[in-house]
Amino acid sequence: AQKRYADLRELPAEDQSGKVISLTMNAGLMADLPSLAGSGADGVGLFRTELQFLTRSRVPSRGELAALYKRVMDAAGGKQVQFRTLDIGSDKVLPYMKPQDEPNPAMGWRAIRVGLDKRGVLRMQLQALMRAADGRPLSVMFPFIATPEEFHAARAEALHMRDREAKIGRRVPETLRIGAMMETPSLAFAPDSFFAACDFISLGGNDLKQFFFAADRENERVRRRYDTLDTAFLSFISGIIARCDNAGTPLSFCGEDAGRPVEALTFAALGIRTLSMRPASIGPVKHLIRRANLDDLAQVIREAQDANVETVRPAVTRYLAGLH
Ligand code: PEP
Ligand code: MG
Repeated sequence: AQKRYADLRELPAEDQSGKVISLTMNAGLMADLPSLAGSGADGVGLFRTELQFLTRSRVPSRGELAALYKRVMDAAGGKQVQFRTLDIGSDKVLPYMKPQDEPNPAMGWRAIRVGLDKRGVLRMQLQALMRAADGRPLSVMFPFIATPEEFHAARAEALHMRDREAKIGRRVPETLRIGAMMETPSLAFAPDSFFAACDFISLGGNDLKQFFFAADRENERVRRRYDTLDTAFLSFISGIIARCDNAGTPLSFCGEDAGRPVEALTFAALGIRTLSMRPASIGPVKHLIRRANLDDLAQVIREAQDANVETVRPAVTRYLAGLH
């Protein structure tokens, strides 16, 4: 099977009806970057920047961060890297951060909430990213955005940092794409103006599913209890897809489910055009996409939903098993 996937490396993830799905990879350390070429990923759809903070005993300096991000971009060799700003919370405690005593850290002071309350670190990160880009295109996304206001505030910081860099004579990114990670159900119901303001949206399915079903992703007793292919969850996702389509905003999915072939095919059939996953999943997902007809699979899903099933998993699995 490994050889078969290697043969697919240079081929597009194009289904039988001619739709091309962009398969990108998730990364977080320099050591992940060689997988970009090895897996045939179209880029890095999610670069988790917190890992580089977690492995140090003090806050990295702006210069250290800029050097790190530059190495990441250089290693990507022109392929797009979507950098996610720090997603740190009281569950992912930095050795140099005062521990917060919170009863529900996953719903606590984390990610962009920390970034907006302690702007220094957010600004430093944005500045380091721009210096690393050194005139090249840059994509940044903000984690755990729960309201449009949070996105607008974070975006304003990025634009402000770009202006400051320009003012002091530094090269600014050729293009600056600013996106939001949708990880709380609230954001799916934001006004149209929010969707229009995002250069792209990425679904953080791990958190989104946890909050949709109120099932802790860290709790073994409940974490596999609810099916990602549950029709309630899929109609929620379909609503988000429709809103992004209306606004012309590119949508990707970067949670762990994007790397599970049955889930990945289902998302693609529903209309998600970019999936970001661990590198080892790219081959198997691509293999299946190339054999499937996403229009047919969409029809299979619609029929199952019309038949009032609670999960479309049996129908999707049957369709995929029938491919030769
Ligand atoms: C997610 O929540 O799906 C996500 C990609 O972010 P993380 O897993 O880092 O919380
Ligand atoms: Mg998340």
